[in-house]
Amino acid sequence: MTQQVPRGPDHLFCPFWRMRQSKVCHTCPLWVQVRGTNPQTGQEVDQWQCSLSWLPMLLIECAQQSRQTGAAVESFRNQMVNQREVAAAMVDEIARRAIAARARGNGAPPVLEDDPDDGSR
Ligand code: SF4
Repeated sequence: MTQQVPRGPDHLFCPFWRMRQSKVCHTCPLWVQVRGTNPQTGQEVDQWQCSLSWLPMLLIECAQQSRQTGAAVESFRNQMVNQREVAAAMVDEIARRAIAARARGNGAPPVLEDDPDDGSR
C-alpha cells in the first residue's frame, strides 16, 4: 500500500527549487513525516515537513538524549564507587580477623579485641 504524500504549504518556498513548497515538496525525498514528541514543548508531533526544517528540533532532541545518557552513566559510576568502597571495607575486615586469628595461633575463629559481636566486653 503506498502512502499518500501531502503537498507542502503554499506560503513557504523551497530554497533549492525557489518554488512554492506546494509545487515541489511532494516529489522530494527530503519531504518526510515525523512522529514523536517535540523536545521543546513536550507536545505530540505527527507532521510532514522538509528534512531541513526538522533538523533544529532533531538536534535539540539528540542533545537532550545525550544529557540524559550522561546523567545515567554518572549515576551508575557513583553507585559503582560506593559498592567498591563497601567491598574494600569488607575485605579489610576479613583480612584483619584472619591476621588476628593467626596471631593467636590457636585455630579458633578470629575474635578481635574491638569486635562488638564477640561478647568479650
Ligand atoms: S522537502 Fe525541502 S528540499 Fe525538498 S522540495 Fe521541499 S523544501 Fe525543497
